[in-house]
Amino acid sequence: MKKIALLGATGSIGINSVDVATAYPDKFKIVSLTFHSNSEKGAALIEQLKPQYVGVGSEEMRTMLAARFPDVKFGVGEEGLIKAATLEDVDVVLTAVTGSVGLKPTMAAIERGKDIALANKETLVMAGKWVMEAAQKYNVSILPVDSEHSAIFQCLNTQEKGNLKELVITASGGSFRDLNRDELEFVTLEEALKHPNWSMGKKITIDSSTMMNKGLEVIEAHWLFGIDYDRIKVVLHKESIVHSMIVLKDGAYLAQLGPSDMREPIQYALTYPNRLPIKDEKSFDLTKIGQLNFEPMDFERFPMLELAFTVGKKGGGYPTVYNAANEIAANAFLEGKISYLQIEELVLKAVQNYTEANEVTLEEVIEIDKQTRTIVERWIKEEG
Ligand code: NAD
Ligand code: MG
Repeated sequence: MKKIALLGATGSIGINSVDVATAYPDKFKIVSLTFHSNSEKGAALIEQLKPQYVGVGSEEMRTMLAARFPDVKFGVGEEGLIKAATLEDVDVVLTAVTGSVGLKPTMAAIERGKDIALANKETLVMAGKWVMEAAQKYNVSILPVDSEHSAIFQCLNTQEKGNLKELVITASGGSFRDLNRDELEFVTLEEALKHPNWSMGKKITIDSSTMMNKGLEVIEAHWLFGIDYDRIKVVLHKESIVHSMIVLKDGAYLAQLGPSDMREPIQYALTYPNRLPIKDEKSFDLTKIGQLNFEPMDFERFPMLELAFTVGKKGGGYPTVYNAANEIAANAFLEGKISYLQIEELVLKAVQNYTEANEVTLEEVIEIDKQTRTIVERWIKEEG
C-alpha cells in the first residue's frame, strides 16, 4: 500500500490524481491532502477519501471544515502544506499545487525521506539545484508527472546510463500557435484559456500560450535529467501525441506516444518501476490520427522560450526571477489587470532588471522570488 500526500487536490492534476489513486484502493491511499480556496470541492474530497490530515487556505475554512469533520486534523497555509507533506505515514508526495508555494513543502518532504511525484514544475525552476541536491542527500526519488518529462523518463528507463545525446521536448504551441505577433495584441482572456489539446488549470493554460510553460519545462528537464541546455531541443508538435523523445549517441530516437490524458503520467509516477492498466482507457488509434507533424520552434514568435535558455544557462537566481515574474504577470492577466503581451514584457523586464554578483544560496533564492513578486506587482500598479 502506497500512502500519498496530495498537495493541490482540488486542481486539474489533483482531481486526475484522485481518479488514479481511487482506481486501486488496495494499492494507494491518500492519507493527507491540501487545497487553497475551493472549500466545496475540498469538502467533497474529504468525504470521499477520509484523509488523516488536510491543509487549507484560510482560518475560516479550517473552522468551518473542522466542525464538519471532527476526525480529521487541519492546518492552514504554508504550515498546513508542510504538515501534509511530512506526515509520518506518507510514502510519496504528489505536488500538484501551482507556483513556487510548492518549494517549502517539497523540501521538507525530501528531508523526511519522502519520494516526490512532481507536477509542480515551478519548484524545480525556482530552486532545482537545491531540490536535486537534497534528493540525492536523503536518497529520495523525484518522479516526473509533467507529460513531457514522464515521456523522457520512460524512454530513459530503457537505456543504460551514458547513451543519451539529446532530449527533444514537444510543444503543442498553445492557444495562439496560429497567430502571428501582431495578432496577439488584442487577444482576450477567454481565447487564451482555450487550449487546443489539454484541459488544465488556468495558469498553466496561459503559460502554454506564451510558451512560458515550455520554457519552464526546459529548465525542469535540465534539473531532472542533469543535462546541459545545449542538449535540450524543443519542437512544435501540434497533435500532442508524441509526448517527448530522447536521442541516443548512435542516432536512434526513442519516443513515448499516447492520448492527452494526464492520468497516465500520474499513474506511472506512482507505480514506477511497475505498470498497471489504466481505468477507462481513452481511445487511441494512430490510423485515425493519420499524421504527426513536427516544426521548428520560432524564437522570435515565442521570446519566452528563448529567454528560458538564457536564464537557465546563467543559473543562480535568474530562473527564479523568470518564474516569479511570470507567476505575477500571468495572474494579473487572469485578473484582467494587464493585456496579454504585457505578460512577456514584464517577465523580460524583470530578468533584465536583475543582476547577480555572487553565487546565491537557497535562502537568497527565496528572497529573490519574494522581491521579484513585489517589483512586478509595483510595475503593474504603476502602469495600470
Ligand atoms: P490548478 O490551478 O488546476 O490547481 C492548483 C491547485 O493548487 C489547487 O488545488 C489549488 O487549491 C492549489 N493552490 C493554488 N494556489 C495555492 C496556494 N497559494 N497555496 C496552496 N495551494 C494552492 O493547477 P493544475 O493545472 O492542476 O497545475 C498544478 C501544477 O501541475 C502546476 O505546477 C502545473 O504547472 C503542473 N502541471 C499541470 C498539468 C495539467 O495538465 N494541468 C500538466 C503538467 C504539469
Ligand atoms: Mg507539460
